[in-house]
Amino acid sequence: MSAPTITLNNGVEIPQLGFGVWQVEKADAVKAVRAALDAGYRHIDTAQMYGNEAEVGKAVVESGVPRDEIFVTTKLDNDGHGFEAAKTALDGSLSALGLDRVDLFLIHWPRPSADRFVETWKAFEQLVAAGKTRAIGVSNFTIDHLDRLAKECDVVPAINQIELHPRFPQPELRAYHHAHGIATEAWSPIGQGGDLLDDEKLVELGKKYDKSPAQIVLRWHIQLGNIVFPKSVTPSRIVENFDIFDFQLAADDIAAVDALDSGQRLGPDPADFG
Ligand code: NAD
Repeated sequence: MSAPTITLNNGVEIPQLGFGVWQVEKADAVKAVRAALDAGYRHIDTAQMYGNEAEVGKAVVESGVPRDEIFVTTKLDNDGHGFEAAKTALDGSLSALGLDRVDLFLIHWPRPSADRFVETWKAFEQLVAAGKTRAIGVSNFTIDHLDRLAKECDVVPAINQIELHPRFPQPELRAYHHAHGIATEAWSPIGQGGDLLDDEKLVELGKKYDKSPAQIVLRWHIQLGNIVFPKSVTPSRIVENFDIFDFQLAADDIAAVDALDSGQRLGPDPADFG
């Protein structure tokens, strides 16, 4: 079974379920990405900051899966903001990955105190035409940051990758994305595997659908239209997290997961960070 795709605002298609590699050690990364590709994943989410681009690229090449069938995302490091610096940084990623282009390049954090994300985005706008990435987007941008790009730049980001899970579902930002043709990527989709997965309601829904709490949460994202890329280095969990396309949550069960919203972030508030 393959994951469904979502068409981005520039026509590029992205698989809605991918594999995230934040905190995957170099020593484990090739094996984990190979396990994900073997399980059917065709979308890998890495970043310059994760320090494992070389291993991701190695796994992609060694897998034997045609390059065009795998969607590869990387993200600009926080010290790469600036018009020239951003372009040079993507060249560095391509060299580390051993690829001649990525599918998606994101500004990892807006870094409002540095206030260079507009200039950085103007460089990003040129990277698609240069053939170095098929799509461009941002991550951890608030509505204010997105409004500034809309006022001062030409290209609308294809994606905003934000913290989003049942405890922190970000309805306002999702509505803004929807109104402006920006796809929503949800980071830490299963709440970093923490106590969210012990929630009684998720355990109960797991029994009802014969799925695990992690699968219930991932299915909730898929039905909301979010793009997700859970992380694991455990082969059985890598397979489990992909096995969510043979069932559908009923509307009242979607509402029951919605009701877990507690406004609880796992990461920093991007309006203050950096
Ligand atoms: P996640 O929600 O994917 O949870 C990962 C944790 O859950 C792992 O520690 C794993 O042990 C556990 N887990 C995985 N599958 C499980 C299962 N089936 N049952 C029980 N536990 C399970 O959290 P994440 O890694 O923080 O986020 C996923 C990806 O999002 C990252 O790998 C990265 O690619 C991306 N991300 C981006 C940003 C950003 O700032 N843009 C920030 C954080 C993460």
